[in-house]
This record gives sequence, structure tokens and C-alpha cells, in this order.
Amino acid sequence: MKKIILAAPRGFCAGVVRAIDIVNIALEVFSRPVYVRKEIVHNRHVVSELQNRGAIFVESLDEVPQNKTVIFSAHGVSPQVRKDAKKRGLRIIDATCPLVTKVHLEAKRYAKNGYTILLIGHSGHDEVIGTMGVAPDKIHLITNEQDAKNIKIISGTLLAYLTQTTLSLEDTRKIVSVLRNRFPSIEGPPSEDICYATQNRQMAVRQLARKSDLILVVGSQNSSNSNRLVEEAIKEGTPAYLIEDYKSIQNDWIKKASVIGVTSGASAPEMLVSQVVTWLKKNGGKIEQLITQSENVEFALPIELQTESKRRKIAI
Ligand code: SF4
Repeated sequence: MKKIILAAPRGFCAGVVRAIDIVNIALEVFSRPVYVRKEIVHNRHVVSELQNRGAIFVESLDEVPQNKTVIFSAHGVSPQVRKDAKKRGLRIIDATCPLVTKVHLEAKRYAKNGYTILLIGHSGHDEVIGTMGVAPDKIHLITNEQDAKNIKIISGTLLAYLTQTTLSLEDTRKIVSVLRNRFPSIEGPPSEDICYATQNRQMAVRQLARKSDLILVVGSQNSSNSNRLVEEAIKEGTPAYLIEDYKSIQNDWIKKASVIGVTSGASAPEMLVSQVVTWLKKNGGKIEQLITQSENVEFALPIELQTESKRRKIAI
């Protein structure tokens, strides 16, 4: 192997950093146990590390004893889940990424103004479930171009579209174009709701793929944005694989590759990338970075967490 090229930006986005910080701080400032509804972010290593620190991950609120603290994951929850948590007397700490909250607010505004909403996203994804729950009677899910071609809308209906934050930019633009052709008056956000981190990582991996014989994307199988990175690399004609960590690398993949590109999804810790590089370096080759964009986005912590930390004089 001649070269290992690392994509930059890669790995943790501001929403993931915030969500993980929230769980860590909650474990310090609130009495334990602290419960987390669903995986805080879609990464097995992150979840297992937080479990080791004392967080209890649950699938449903029924598993959280009354009056305990529950953290909602970065993917967001429907208003019904919030109501149910309040009904159970739970202390809620919301780790929903502010960029997902923005989509919820858009859905709420459109629904309130009488619009039917076409949500472009992946069926069954936690974020989509949460967003659809904002206005369940008003939102239809569009998963691909075929859905966009087939959806039946009564003429005269006020129509808007929204998107999941972690979709493929290219595929989403194609779907939006079908919708705009069919429904010229459809409204939507000024740019897609695909977040800055997803966009930057996709653009980076496409450039990386053009310079590489093989792309390895570090991320979990259920991570939407990581899966999209694999697809984007393949669109450039470069074989690409999603790997949980270095142990998933198969010798067959790398034996003919002279340049290997490495990137990671927005929920994958950098430590896993370092381990992959260390493993690859056994075969020689120098390491380079391909910097396509710099990022400096940060999100504030939830106010209730800041207040409680101050009250307990815990520096955060
Ligand atoms: Fe937020 Fe984007 Fe990160 Fe999701 S991928 S948590 S929307 S910044």
C-alpha cells in the first residue's frame, strides 16, 4: 500500500458531541441511575462506553421508573413521547440535535397553517418517527423517487416538503425535483434540511473516493449518515465498506488497494479511526489528510443542565 488518506471533516458533528456531553454531565449532576431513551447516537461503541459509566439505555419510557431522569436521543422524539414522559413524572433532558428541532418546528408551522407535508426520509429511522409524530395526520413519508412520482395529492392542497437531516444530497435533490415538477407550488425550506455535517462529510468522501482505490467508512450499521458515505463513494466508482471498527476490515478488500481512503460517520468516535489507521499502517504507506472544509459549529447545552450544574457548583 502506498498511501492512507484521511478525510477531513469526518466523525463527530456538533449534535453528537452535545448529545454525548449531555449524558456525561447528567451522570455527574443528577442522582443515578440516568436513563436514555433509545441509542443516544447511532454508534455501538459510544453507547457501550456510556453504559459503562452508568447510563441505562431503554427502548421505551415504560422501562423508566417514575420520577427518574430520562434523556431523549439526538434523533428527537414526537410530542406524544414528551407528553408520556411528563405523565410519568420523569425529569426530561432533551439531547435532540438543534438541527432536528428546526425540522420539527418547520413541520409544526406548516401543519398549523393547513399544509400537507411530504417528509423525505427513511422509513423506521428514529428521526423520521419523531418528525412524523409532530403532525401525524398531515405528514406523508416519501422514501424515494418512485414514492414522489406515485403520491396522490388532491388538487388545491397546500403542500410543503421537509427532509431528514442525514440523507444523500444528490438523491434528495432528485426527489425534490420530481416533487417540484409534479407540484410547482410546493413549498420547502430555502435549502434542504440535510445538516451541515452530513453535507460536508458527503462532499469530502466524494473527493476522497476520486483519489482512492478503496474507501473505509467507520460507523455503525444503523447509522444513516455513515451508510450514505458508503453510497456516495460507490457513486464515484470506488469500492467502499462500512466498518464498525478495525476488526471488520477484510484482507481481501485491501490487498489490491494502493491508496485507501478513510472517513467516519458523524456518530463514530475518532479513537476508532485511529485504530483503523494503526491497523492499516502494518502494511506500510504514508498518511495524508484531504481537507475539504473546516467546521466550527457548536451547540449550547440544555438550559436545565446548565442550571443544575451551576446549582451544584459543578464546572461543565
Ligand atoms: Fe445534528 Fe447533523 Fe449531527 Fe444529526 S448529523 S446530530 S442533524 S449535526
